[in-house]
Amino acid sequence: MSASPLYQTYARSELAFERGDGVWLTTVDGRRFLDCAAGIAVNSLGHSHPHLVEALKTQAEKLWHVSNVYTIPGQEKLGQRLIDATFADRVFFTNSGAEANEAAIKTARKYFHAKGEGERYQLITFEGAFHGRTLATIAAGGQEKYLEGFGPKTPGFVQVPFGDLDAVKAAIGPETAGIFVEPVQGEGGINVLPTETLRALREICDENGLLLVLDEIQSGVGRTGKFFAYEWAGITPDIMSVAKGIGGGFPFGACLATEEAASGMVAGTHGTTYGGNPLAMAVGNAVLDVLLAEGFLEEVQRKGLLMKQKLAALVDTHPAVFEEVRGKGLHIGLKCNVPNAEVLAEMRANGLLSVAAGENVLRIMPPLTISDEEIEEAVLRIEKAAIAVEEKAAKGAAE
Ligand SMILES: *Cc1c(COP(=O)(O)O)cnc(C)c1O
Repeated sequence: MSASPLYQTYARSELAFERGDGVWLTTVDGRRFLDCAAGIAVNSLGHSHPHLVEALKTQAEKLWHVSNVYTIPGQEKLGQRLIDATFADRVFFTNSGAEANEAAIKTARKYFHAKGEGERYQLITFEGAFHGRTLATIAAGGQEKYLEGFGPKTPGFVQVPFGDLDAVKAAIGPETAGIFVEPVQGEGGINVLPTETLRALREICDENGLLLVLDEIQSGVGRTGKFFAYEWAGITPDIMSVAKGIGGGFPFGACLATEEAASGMVAGTHGTTYGGNPLAMAVGNAVLDVLLAEGFLEEVQRKGLLMKQKLAALVDTHPAVFEEVRGKGLHIGLKCNVPNAEVLAEMRANGLLSVAAGENVLRIMPPLTISDEEIEEAVLRIEKAAIAVEEKAAKGAAE
């Protein structure tokens, strides 16, 4: 038995960090790592960003928490800023991504219920999806490994192959409420839904009176170089979940919706104790100060291209290790030709943190604030890892 008091739900590394500074993390025993995992796309502005630290400290000295039965000025402010910068008219703040998705799913169902079409409660989802770990979101994600042993699958989700428009059309029936999709599948392996497919999903929704529900928990908040990934397709959703990068490391999320889509969510239909509390809102507003400043997202696009070009060169020079680089902005996936865990271990040995995803992919998702020099350094470390993997393979073959 492990000596840890914790649930054994994670195969944890022994790495324990004490400090973070920008893209760098330092362990309790003083080892430094270049963080290309960013808490799984959470530390959007890096570690210990001075503006975020200041915002949290200032708020911590004033007020931590009040109930949502009161007006919370930080929520009004952040909500309005999110509305001004997106398709949305209404925002509901949550503590996490899964809760943002729960709110999104409930909003979609309630919309039809309020119209007298309560039989429309099903969402069409996609193979390879990840929407969280609550009972409804594991059903939405549809992955057997997360569903097994947790009793009957929560009804209301129909799954089709990723991006398969014919399958989507065939799945639409009298019980369909909408389509629920990540513009870029994160956990699934950085699978970018082609912009024309996203546009086609919007059209299918319009033609059939369905809601388009986007999960931008990982792809949003600047990760792809736009505030939200849907902007690349020139369409807008009806409902969207947000989390991860919006808090920059402070745990919170949000569900955004149009006035129409949110029309069923009247007083008493939904709630949360902590969601949108003053601490979270202070940090969220500080994240937007930086992210929405003139030129920031353009820089993410430029740096994303730079990093992808350099990684594409590595794919060319190390074809035994890497098959492909994919993704958008700084939401990058490296598909491996050897088990991704082996490459991940060599990256760690070379002082770089990445995170695994489906389809034997390693995700390269540094803080959006990474500098050109740090991109250079990251790619150098990834190359060292590739060389180490090749050397081990050569040694193994010789034995
Ligand atoms: C991480 C993630 C979630 C779940 O968010 P939690 O904060 O862990 O509940 C849902 N959807 C996507 C696309 C994610 O990347």
